[in-house]
Amino acid sequence: MKAMVLHEIGRPLQFEDRPDPVPGAGEIRVKVEACAVCRTDLHVVDGDLTHPKLPVVPGHEIVGIVDAIGAGVETLPVGTRVGIPWLGHTCGACPYCLEGRENLCDRPLFTGYTRDGGFATHVAADADFAFPMKGFVDPVAAAPLMCAGLIGWRSLKMAGDARRIGLYGFGAAAHIIAQVCSWQGRDVYAFTRNGDEAAQAHALSLGCRWAGGSDERPPEPLDAAIIFAPVGPLVPAALKAVRKGGRVVCGGIHMSDIPQFPYSLLWEERSIVSVANLTRQDATEFLTLAPEAGVKTTTTVYPLAAANEALADLRAGRFQGAAVLVP
Ligand SMILES: [Zn+2]
Ligand SMILES: [Zn+2]
Repeated sequence: MKAMVLHEIGRPLQFEDRPDPVPGAGEIRVKVEACAVCRTDLHVVDGDLTHPKLPVVPGHEIVGIVDAIGAGVETLPVGTRVGIPWLGHTCGACPYCLEGRENLCDRPLFTGYTRDGGFATHVAADADFAFPMKGFVDPVAAAPLMCAGLIGWRSLKMAGDARRIGLYGFGAAAHIIAQVCSWQGRDVYAFTRNGDEAAQAHALSLGCRWAGGSDERPPEPLDAAIIFAPVGPLVPAALKAVRKGGRVVCGGIHMSDIPQFPYSLLWEERSIVSVANLTRQDATEFLTLAPEAGVKTTTTVYPLAAANEALADLRAGRFQGAAVLVP
């Protein structure tokens, strides 16, 4: 197999030959068709997430075809198209797993962080954490659903039944969730980097009611806001934009420090909540809902060997939607 490998935090990924992974008991091996690039991959490469397995193959938005199975795998025969997300394994025994909150598992494995991921031609995965992708005919279009879609969906559920909803940071997750919101009959307000007219035009083209810079006030107070950009100062900005009782959901795994702000911004029962990882339930729900909602992803394709370029372009905001690596 070939893979883009992170050996040292802050260093570029290296394109390498490796032995083909052998699926262990309960595992599948997948021939990768496409793997989208997530902001979390940048956080892994930059060392914002502090405990990667090194060396590690990043990438946790994988779509591919099962090409070998380990002992005991019965539901995903060779030839099945599957999606593999960030949540790669849970212990099934800790208090969080037992109460149905496996996203908070005490002993999890995460794809592309603490187990090898999909910036590769092949990857081994726990079959219980891979999802059949029946009905998804284009692996490139489907790949961004596996994290931008799934974590976006969990974030949206945390936002409750908000009708007017703000999305801060209009990248891969927001461009998917905006479509789901419109389909559900919500009004979406898109907040982008100040002056990013291309992102604002992209948001409006996907049915958003309003698009502006992140320091602008929306024309109406919001019922809830989801912050996808890893930018702490957006928390007080979003609190200012939500109505009494409004909720601000932080959808990212890492964020710069949140600046001090007056209690009056939180007063009147506004709340701030973070979203951690995903559950298999989130995945099953979203992978059923996305085709029904007619979600279309905007993608920019890179060859596998250009993963470093894709990461750099993501960092600089040089494309709309999601970058997808194709081996
Ligand atoms: Zn657990
Ligand atoms: Zn991700």
